[in-house]
Amino acid sequence: MNEKIFKVNCDFCGKEIECPENMMNAKTHACFKCFQGLDKGHKKLKPGKLHVDIKREELEEEMGEEAI
Ligand SMILES: [Zn+2]
Repeated sequence: MNEKIFKVNCDFCGKEIECPENMMNAKTHACFKCFQGLDKGHKKLKPGKLHVDIKREELEEEMGEEAI
């Protein structure tokens, strides 16, 4: 892993979160808590527009719920 990690701030609560270099061009950054609190309209943002600071385990959990 030689991916650079940058510090950004969540656009919703201002908390400092981490963002990999390949997501730095996202329009919106959100921490996982704020992402969970977003209404469904926001969740439909196109990939690449929204970066969520999310751990792999949390992501799998979230995707699992969506799939049910
Ligand atoms: Zn937040």
